Amino acid sequence: MDNFFDMKCNRLTCRLSLTDKAVVTTCSHIFCVDCATELFNAARLCPACETALTEPDDVVICSLHLTNDYKTSVLSGLSPAMILEICSRAIGFWQYQSHQELSFQTAVARSLNDKNAQLQKQLDNVVREANNEIGLLSSKLSELERDLELERRKVRDTQEISRERDREFQKLKARLKLHSPSQQRTHIALDPGSTREDQTQSPPSSHRVDAPPTA
Ligand SMILES: [Zn+2]
Ligand SMILES: [Zn+2]
Repeated sequence: MDNFFDMKCNRLTCRLSLTDKAVVTTCSHIFCVDCATELFNAARLCPACETALTEPDDVVICSLHLTNDYKTSVLSGLSPAMILEICSRAIGFWQYQSHQELSFQTAVARSLNDKNAQLQKQLDNVVREANNEIGLLSSKLSELERDLELERRKVRDTQEISRERDREFQKLKARLKLHSPSQQRTHIALDPGSTREDQTQSPPSSHRVDAPPTA
């Protein structure tokens, strides 16, 4: 896992966290060994700031993980002024890198904020469109429910009319039955002058009543 205080390879497409070995330049840039090998073989120009690095000590490979023995001996023999100067330059290098990293992270944060605002705007549009669509569908649904209720009322009215007509028909049928020849025959049968043939005669088909049409 990357440590926040670790320096990162200054090649933007790499940004490897540097913990063991690194290549540093006198223009205050630092790269991982793989990037440095590739980039400095092509040209002796700093890939980050394009400074010409022509002197032998302009590009130096260094260890970031020092043993205690090395820490004891690396500045030993130097005068305090030289030691302080070296420390001061090393601190300057660290400050520059920290500042660069801060700028990089600020740019990343700004870009993320812009992207977030854009997404938020798109989301708002989607929500607004969805709400409009829901509103339209709701009004269409209430319209359909109104139509359905009207149709149901029409069906109920039609059924009521049909029942009323059926009742009238049954009444008419009953009345017609009373006046049918078969009923009259009963009266005729009581009359001694009538013939046997008259009694068995079926009623004329024009007097027959058909069943009511089914609804
Ligand atoms: Zn790298
Ligand atoms: Zn540089």
